[in-house]
Amino acid sequence: MARISLFRLSAVALLLLSAYCWADNEVEAEDDSEELSVSELLERANSNLIRSKDDPILTEGDIAIDSGAEKNADPCTSQGCKWGKWSDGKVYIPYYITNHFSSREKAIITRGLESFSSFSCIRFRPTQSNDRDWLSIESQNGCYSYVGRRGGKQVVSLARSGCLYHGTVQHELLHALGFNHEQTRSDRDNYIKVLLQNVQSGMEHNFRKIATLNQGIPYDYNSVMQYHKYAFSKNNQPTMLPIPDPNVSFGNAKEMSRNDIARLNKLYGCCECPH
Ligand SMILES: [Zn+2]
Repeated sequence: MARISLFRLSAVALLLLSAYCWADNEVEAEDDSEELSVSELLERANSNLIRSKDDPILTEGDIAIDSGAEKNADPCTSQGCKWGKWSDGKVYIPYYITNHFSSREKAIITRGLESFSSFSCIRFRPTQSNDRDWLSIESQNGCYSYVGRRGGKQVVSLARSGCLYHGTVQHELLHALGFNHEQTRSDRDNYIKVLLQNVQSGMEHNFRKIATLNQGIPYDYNSVMQYHKYAFSKNNQPTMLPIPDPNVSFGNAKEMSRNDIARLNKLYGCCECPH
C-alpha cells in the first residue's frame, strides 16, 4: 500500500516537473530578445508605432528632435549640450523614473544608470527639488532620447514593451549624454558603405553624416551606438557594408564597448581614464 502511494507520488511529481520544464521552454522560445543586439531591439521596439501629435519627431530611429531644422546639426558641437561637471570632477545628472514601471523594470533601468559610475565620472542621481536640468525616464511611445542636455526636463522614453534591456538603456542614456549613432560619424565613409538603394523610402535620413566630435577614438563596429547591417532595409538586403571586408560582422553589441566608454570619458574629461 505504502509502496503504491510512493509510486503514485513520484509519478505526479514527474508529471509536474515535466509540465514545469515544458512551460519554461515555451517562455524561452517566445522571448528571443536575449539573442538580439541593441540595434535590433531598438528597431523592433520602434517599428510600426502609431505616433500622435504630442510625440516628438524621431530621426535615426530613436533620436527625438523638436523641429526638422535640427536634423543637420549636432547640438553638442554647436551649442555645448554637455552636462556640467562639479568641482569634485564628477558629472551629476538628475533623473526621475516615472511610476509607469514595475519594480523589475525599474531595476533594469537603475542598473543601466548605475553602470556609468563603474567606468566613468558620470553619476546619475535621483532628482532634488532645486534641479534645473534633468532626465524624466518614462514609458512613452517607443525607445528614444534627445541628444545631449536640452535644459529643463527632458524625456528619455523606454517603452515597457520592448525597450527594457541593459544595452538599450545604455544606448538611450548615451544619446542624452550627447552621442550620435556610430554610422553617422563624420569619418564613417572610411569604415562602412551605405547602400541607399536598399533603404526604405523616407528612411534615408537615418544614414546622414554628422560633423561628430570623434575625439580620436576609432570607428567601432562593436559600439552600442552602431546600427546593424540590415537596419531600415526595404528588401532584406544590407543597408550598410563594412569596408574593406564586407564580411566583418558589426552592429551586434549588447552593451557599451570599450570605445564607447573611452569616448564618453574623453568628452567629459573623466581624467582617471588612461590616455
Ligand atoms: Zn539611438
